[in-house]
Amino acid sequence: MPLSRYLKIYPDPDRPGSVLLYSTRKGSVVRASETLLASARDGLLAEPEQALLRRLELLVDDALVERKQMEGLVDQTNARSTVFSATVVLTLECNLACPYCFEDNFRGRHVMSHETARLLVSHVKRNQIERGRDVEIRFYGGEPLMALHMLKEIAIPLLDAATRAGTKFTCSLVTNATMLTRNVVEDLLPLGLTSAQVTLDGPQHIHDRQRPFISGKGSFKTIVSNLYSVYDLITINPGGNFTRDNYHEFPTMLDALLAAGIDPAQLGPVQFAPIHPKSGGHDLHAAACVFGDEPWLIEANLFLRKETLRRGFSVEKPHMGVCMIELTNNLVVAYDGTLYKCPTLMGWPEFAIGTLADGINDYRHSYNLDIWKNDECLECSYLPLCFGGCRFFNKLKTGSIDGVDCRRAMLDATLETIVRQDLTLGRQ
Ligand code: SF4
Ligand code: SF4
Repeated sequence: MPLSRYLKIYPDPDRPGSVLLYSTRKGSVVRASETLLASARDGLLAEPEQALLRRLELLVDDALVERKQMEGLVDQTNARSTVFSATVVLTLECNLACPYCFEDNFRGRHVMSHETARLLVSHVKRNQIERGRDVEIRFYGGEPLMALHMLKEIAIPLLDAATRAGTKFTCSLVTNATMLTRNVVEDLLPLGLTSAQVTLDGPQHIHDRQRPFISGKGSFKTIVSNLYSVYDLITINPGGNFTRDNYHEFPTMLDALLAAGIDPAQLGPVQFAPIHPKSGGHDLHAAACVFGDEPWLIEANLFLRKETLRRGFSVEKPHMGVCMIELTNNLVVAYDGTLYKCPTLMGWPEFAIGTLADGINDYRHSYNLDIWKNDECLECSYLPLCFGGCRFFNKLKTGSIDGVDCRRAMLDATLETIVRQDLTLGRQ
């Protein structure tokens, strides 16, 4: 029985003569003696140890079968999927004036029309709910709460249709949280609101500079006060956008949440991300799956992860994850009804895959699907965490999405530390 190819072996500095075995496929980690590892390599393990390592997917029956399984995994996931997820841009309007946001040029003009909302509802009803799928809508902007009437115009009939069909409808927000009051949340809870992804760009003096109201007034205090008033009702997923110059100060934003009386155990994972250049039309600060391998960024990500865990907040653990472009039941709907596969690629006309009015075109070629189905990736121990990386990031780096966005260097530099952080600081 061979070792899995999707396995990393790290020295265990706390216990000389031991190693950490980490499955990138399962996310499992075990401490093992070097002797046991040698026995596993030589096929000489006793039955109980063999069964345990097999359960953790550190040992496999057949290496070729395992590779085939990974190659077919996304197709299988798509075939079995019972959930449809959509990111819906309600408006590009916003009440903040973040200097790094592209939407200054559009403010006040690009709001979803009643006709587009109607087309969206009928598309989701016909193609998803009536086919028995649960529906998750992530309302996005601009600031989606500036189009609250439109949000309800979509959520109410979809909830109604899902209830009648015996499926489930839930929704979430990507919001600046300045309007996320208890009243608003209580109003949306019966419509299936479960969570909100919110942004705090570090401590007050940085956040107020990076995310002021249009009037120029800082928004930090309003947001923290809103979070305190709603975090017991829905899951708040905090995030923030740092730069090379200010990331060191970001942990004090978490101290401010603690000082405000917010219990970190009730929050979702904290996700800090660097401010990225603007894309063909959309600002990318919300793209949680975009990574970089510059040394300062690796240092920043590891530092912020450690400081977040140290304060009792949770972070995302490394886990099997594929770019949502590869997932059939995933859609991005722009305010005008144009359809995409990832919010970061909105604004580049070549990545539009159709419209609500005309339907979805074949996008296999334009999005370069299955780009990771090559020998190098299928043999790579990082495949379950990478699947060829991020199309958007590749477009930024190379101008096209013809190749993979290889994360090997970044994962070589970070994964071992992350596995150790989770062992010593993470919530179990
Ligand atoms: S293209 Fe990049 S940002 Fe978009 S879903 Fe894929 S990995 Fe995420
Ligand atoms: S892109 Fe690079 S890191 Fe990702 S699976 Fe392929 S070889 Fe591995």
